[in-house]
Amino acid sequence: MSERVNVAEIFGESVFNDAVMRERLPKSVYKKLKKTIVEGKELEAGIADSVAQAMKEWAVERGATHYTHWFQPLTGVTAEKHDSFISAPDTSGKIMLEFSGKELVKGEPDASSFPSGGLRATFEARGYTAWDCTSPAFLKEDATGVTLCIPTAFCSYTGEALDKKTPLLRSMQAIDQQALRILRLFGNTTSKKVTPSVGPEQEYFLVDREKYLQRKDLIYTGRTLFGAMPPKGQEMDDHYFGTIRERIGAFMNEVNRELWKLGVSAKTQHNEVAPAQHELAPIYAEANLAVDHNQMVMETLKKVAGRHGLTCLLHEKPFAGVNGSGKHNNWSITTDDGINMLNPGETPHENIQFLLVLACILKAVDIHADLLRQSAADVGNDHRLGANEAPPAIISIFLGEQLEDVIDQLCSTGEATHSKQGGKLMTGVATLPDLDKDATDRNRTSPFAFTGNKFEFRMVGSADSISSPNVVLNTIVAEAFKEAADELEQAKDFDLAVHDMIKEMLAAHKRIIFNGNGYSDAWVEEAGKRGLPNIRSMVDAIPSLTTDKAVKLFEGFGVFTRAELESRAEIEYETYSKAINIEARTMIDMAGKQFIPAVIKYITQLAQSINEVKTACAAVDVSVQTELLTESSDLLSEAKRALAALVEIDESACRMEEGRDQAVFYRDQVIPAMNALREPIDKLEMLVDKELWPMPSYGDLIFEV
Ligand code: ADP
Ligand code: MG
Repeated sequence: MSERVNVAEIFGESVFNDAVMRERLPKSVYKKLKKTIVEGKELEAGIADSVAQAMKEWAVERGATHYTHWFQPLTGVTAEKHDSFISAPDTSGKIMLEFSGKELVKGEPDASSFPSGGLRATFEARGYTAWDCTSPAFLKEDATGVTLCIPTAFCSYTGEALDKKTPLLRSMQAIDQQALRILRLFGNTTSKKVTPSVGPEQEYFLVDREKYLQRKDLIYTGRTLFGAMPPKGQEMDDHYFGTIRERIGAFMNEVNRELWKLGVSAKTQHNEVAPAQHELAPIYAEANLAVDHNQMVMETLKKVAGRHGLTCLLHEKPFAGVNGSGKHNNWSITTDDGINMLNPGETPHENIQFLLVLACILKAVDIHADLLRQSAADVGNDHRLGANEAPPAIISIFLGEQLEDVIDQLCSTGEATHSKQGGKLMTGVATLPDLDKDATDRNRTSPFAFTGNKFEFRMVGSADSISSPNVVLNTIVAEAFKEAADELEQAKDFDLAVHDMIKEMLAAHKRIIFNGNGYSDAWVEEAGKRGLPNIRSMVDAIPSLTTDKAVKLFEGFGVFTRAELESRAEIEYETYSKAINIEARTMIDMAGKQFIPAVIKYITQLAQSINEVKTACAAVDVSVQTELLTESSDLLSEAKRALAALVEIDESACRMEEGRDQAVFYRDQVIPAMNALREPIDKLEMLVDKELWPMPSYGDLIFEV
């Protein structure tokens, strides 16, 4: 049995949160800091020293020896450089513990070792981290001891964003300003701030660490590059929501505790569709905090797995043939006084503000579908989006029966007079309660689904930061709000103008709505007819970052400059090429050093045993052995040829200049060569004696955790 915990007691104990600040900061400092945190006012100079002092005391009391500026460079993972609090020893050899306001507010990591795209060539290498007081500092406890982590933004010397946080904060300002204009139009004079709320559902796999260590593909690339399908996959649907096994339960228990201490509201946990696959979802939070928390979740999953003899795989497709992992990004917009602008109420047809917001979102997603698709692109996600897996690479919106009906009414008659209601769910069993039904069923195949009072963007990859999708969502919706507000603020008759505007927007962007099965081939065809983009790979998605449309959008709201967009595109191409190159080299290594030698051993043993049998008794039928010998020898030659071809093609890829052409070459030439090598090896795995196979199989990995 595990140790009992008092969740309320440990929740947030490692966070320099509001309660701690209220208790430890001078009143005036606390008030000024809150103004920045809550109202988005500029941080007042002069309070930093006082905050730093309180932070240091609080951290040191809890055993902290170091502090770090914790940031999110464009590598997709977090970065930290630790400094201890100690000062230089005085003449008596004693040290003091120091932490100044300057050290809290600004850090200077060397920017030249982080990806910066073109920015590094054109600008200085110097980079700064800047304190983000809207995400609270926290204590990280691990083998290095206790470290005070200060969430920061990371920029170049000239102010270009080199990270995932800066554009997110900029996009949050954009949607705040524009959403307030919409609220004011409808007579709201009290809300002061609008913030996007985000709840990311994190999927992951767990495998046994001993077995993981025997697979170079998992070690170097996070996914299996070889592996025959086991006799059983996920076809029985017996893992999804199944009873959580003891070993996994102990892991989840510790993950939750660690996260609660960090103030992450880990809420849901369950087994996912594929064997060895699981999910964790927190309660939604302000976008900036949700992004930071999701990084902590990913880090904690990995760290705690190690303590339980497990390895957590965050890759989008660790195993071919079973489901991959994603991250559903639930998104809504909420005012500081608690109004969710995506709440349709009981009778959406009468809720004009909601209908305008909805129309704006349809417009934004329709116009910028390419950007939204790009925001979910990463190397691993190419195995999900546009491959034979959920969700499809075509962006469409699922609204559900109730809203679609309201929209139909508006588009056909110009008037919406009623909203379909959910009614009661009858179970036919007297002792069971009658349940109120939602007005709308779910559609798991939609990449962008309205789920009651939020949109769920389901394309995001499990290993990726959720920053980019939220930057795009916030900015494209800000643009649609702005265009609506620009017009409506000038309208003579507001009611008439808004009514006409909603109708026009719905008619113009209705094509993005799709309530059917997003996995079907018929939809691919239908989407083509509607002119919706079907961007099948990351490499094809990247150009959307630098179109005139994208530059106008992002520059218009001060979220990205053209240079920042170009640098990001460049980094994405480089990342893609590097990742595929590592995969190719890992395959070359495994095939050459592990599989081919194992197969040769098998063939030799087989040949010897045929000889021995023949010598013992010439009349014995050895046709089965001979057939196996021929079959495996043929596959061995095929594998050897494919290996040589992959070596050659990968070398040509490496000789190319970094950039788009190289990435395209990796996708179109190197990946097919990798597949050609995998094929004979996977077949050989089915023939060769298990004892001789040099690593754990799929079955060993996903069924024996
Ligand atoms: P599922 O989609 O799997 O049924 P839930 O509906 O419980 O899961 O919600 C999934 C995630 O959405 C959770 O992180 C939850 O906190 C978050 N969520 C719920 N309401 C909102 C909202 N208004 N805005 C953003 N996220 C939300
Ligand atoms: Mg969901």
